[in-house]
Amino acid sequence: MRAYHRPRTLITGGAGFLGSHLCDRLLAEGHEVICMDNFITGSPDNIAHLFGHPRFHFIQHDVTNFIYVEGPLDFILHFASPASPEDYLRYPIQTLKVGALGTHKALGLAKAKGARFLLASTSEVYGDPLVHPQPETYWGNVNPIGLRGVYDEAKRFAEAMTMAYHRYHGLDTRIVRIFNTYGPRMRLDDGRALPNFMRQALTGEPITVYGDGRQTRSFCYVDDMVEGIYRLLLSTEVEPVNLGNPDEIPLLQLALEIKELTGSASPIVFKPLPADDPRVRQPDISKARRVLGWEPKVSRREGLERTLAYFRQKLGLAC
Ligand code: NAD
Ligand code: UDP
Repeated sequence: MRAYHRPRTLITGGAGFLGSHLCDRLLAEGHEVICMDNFITGSPDNIAHLFGHPRFHFIQHDVTNFIYVEGPLDFILHFASPASPEDYLRYPIQTLKVGALGTHKALGLAKAKGARFLLASTSEVYGDPLVHPQPETYWGNVNPIGLRGVYDEAKRFAEAMTMAYHRYHGLDTRIVRIFNTYGPRMRLDDGRALPNFMRQALTGEPITVYGDGRQTRSFCYVDDMVEGIYRLLLSTEVEPVNLGNPDEIPLLQLALEIKELTGSASPIVFKPLPADDPRVRQPDISKARRVLGWEPKVSRREGLERTLAYFRQKLGLAC
């Protein structure tokens, strides 16, 4: 890394949900931020407020192709990838390509610039887990040829490629395994449970619970996630670190909570469970607590209320 103090940072997928929050955070920390995105699942709306900022630059580019960035770089945060199951089922080849070719290009750029590289990996590397909660030492239970395999295997490959660049080229790398995260700037129609439930509750559509709703997830508010990622970026931890909120909840209960919070009259309807849908998911965050001194601070109630305020505004509904 360079000696002088203003870091110059590339965020791939910077116009997405998490990427745009990271742009905000790194600008607030004094970085010069280059945001790169091809808008396959992200939106210019997420970064519209940053255009005109003297330390913000945007490059529209598909990172599966050679990445050119002029000048030095201190950090590369590789967040480009569809992340919602509906998105990656709609774009299976693009998802495999961005996890494989995109990660390779971003690592090559980090090597050329001598930049620290942080990979956005996922709890999906654990697949439908047979160990619960999931510690980083668990190797996972993934169906490579299943519908979700395009995402899970792309991320597993991305982790392997990142470690290979670290071991073979001595690249300074970080890997974050992100568990379900939510908050403002998620797309209303991205198909994930939380935005679906909120949109449905706010517009009076039926709330669609897949399967019997007993499958669990653990939802982390975006501000907590961004804090954890920032701490990991500045840490010395090379091996993967889980970040997420261990507060685990069955999906049916989440649907009921959102219905209650919104005062919605929407009925709850049950739809078929998608193939290979993990039955449980909860991060073991002992490592994050130990090496980053991090744990989530925002309660589910508080996070849901903040997110509902955003969705109400997006839908043009009064608060
Ligand atoms: P998102 O879809 O909102 O953001 C992804 C961004 O990447 C989008 O702006 C998209 O246009 C961009 N992108 C995709 N392919 C690209 C390509 N080839 N070239 C350039 N840009 C490209 O999703 P998100 O929820 O913000 O997820 C961001 C990252 O975090 C992803 O890598 C995802 O796998 C990871 N992650 C997110 C969660 C979560 O709960 N949100 C959980 C685990 C992992
Ligand atoms: N889900 C649901 N109703 C929806 C969307 C999703 O019940 O309208 C379920 C989905 O089957 C899964 C859980 O909610 O069990 C979380 O799904 P999401 O798409 O948010 O992300 P995942 O954690 O599966 O990647």
